[in-house]
Amino acid sequence: MNTQSIPLLSPAIGTHRELVSFHFGPADRGQKIYIQASLHADETPAMLTTVLLKRRLRELEQAGALNAEIVLVPVSNPVGLAQNVLGQFIGRFELGSGKNFNRHFVQLTKLVANAKDALGADANENCRIVRELVAAELAQQQPLTEFESLQLALLKLSCDADVVIDLHCSLEAAMHVYTSEAAWAEVEPLSRYLGAEASLLATDSGGGAFDETHSLLWWTLQQQMPASKPVPTGSIAVTVECRGQRDVSYEVAQQDADALVDYLRWRGAIRGEARPLPPLLAPATPLAGSEQFYAPVSGILVHRAKIGDAIRVGQPLFDIVDPLTDATTTIASQTEGVLYMRRAIRFVTTGAPLGRVTGTRPIRTGVLLGA
Ligand SMILES: [Zn+2]
Repeated sequence: MNTQSIPLLSPAIGTHRELVSFHFGPADRGQKIYIQASLHADETPAMLTTVLLKRRLRELEQAGALNAEIVLVPVSNPVGLAQNVLGQFIGRFELGSGKNFNRHFVQLTKLVANAKDALGADANENCRIVRELVAAELAQQQPLTEFESLQLALLKLSCDADVVIDLHCSLEAAMHVYTSEAAWAEVEPLSRYLGAEASLLATDSGGGAFDETHSLLWWTLQQQMPASKPVPTGSIAVTVECRGQRDVSYEVAQQDADALVDYLRWRGAIRGEARPLPPLLAPATPLAGSEQFYAPVSGILVHRAKIGDAIRVGQPLFDIVDPLTDATTTIASQTEGVLYMRRAIRFVTTGAPLGRVTGTRPIRTGVLLGA
């Protein structure tokens, strides 16, 4: 294992942060895996998983069992990690700009035009050429802020990875994953090992999230290049939501770290026989099919369903109780699926998001992810 540190742009005199990465395994085996945790900073379940994963990778490396380059970034957002306002941890948005740390990444799809002339008839060679174009584009980027320098550093570490795994967590949630339709066949085993209760598929959910910055480039190239210029899938990317923010325990983190090791074995990135694939707990569904619930009125939020519950159409999910009039407003599901995430707060303002249930039929368009 070797440790690297990338200095971030200093936001103010006397203040310096760094992005630390741990590098394992041989770089000459034709496979690179990139795993990062806690891009929204206050996502400690993911961070603890990487602590246990790092221990395991060190053992495996010492035993000569690694068959790929593996890059691990346990703290992918040191900027957000230091944001504390009146006792509240603010990790999702940068305080200075209000920007979501997992949006606004440089859109690599703008390189597609350049690639049109550069690519030839050999798919492997085309993969190499595209990666060179990406590296050159990132090398000439000039970040203006600490936020931009963090995002650029993350892309530089991950842009040539065959597999990008972005570990987050939600507020109160079941284990679930987001990936693209194109990557699903290769991500499905990961969903099985993790015991994901929902796998949500979208090609472009809007907003420039980290995972799609990788996957959209290759997908777009594949859509736009003629058959005479074949483009392989140079990178598959997946966002893993390691349950809810308070689901921090050694047992669960170990289970998730073991699942990641199993998946890397399945891919051949770690030598040895992979654990037999467990069943997929729930079929993949379109992200556009997820029903999102919002509070029509303000009041005390009382949950009527538990995380991970199988929900039927018409089933009551939330009550909102007005403490002055005693009026109770019940919100029921219009969709059959799994209640995979909900908000953690128990008093809601009008219009506040409440939670989401998976659905098989697309019902939403436009930007599919929350702010
Ligand atoms: Zn997150």
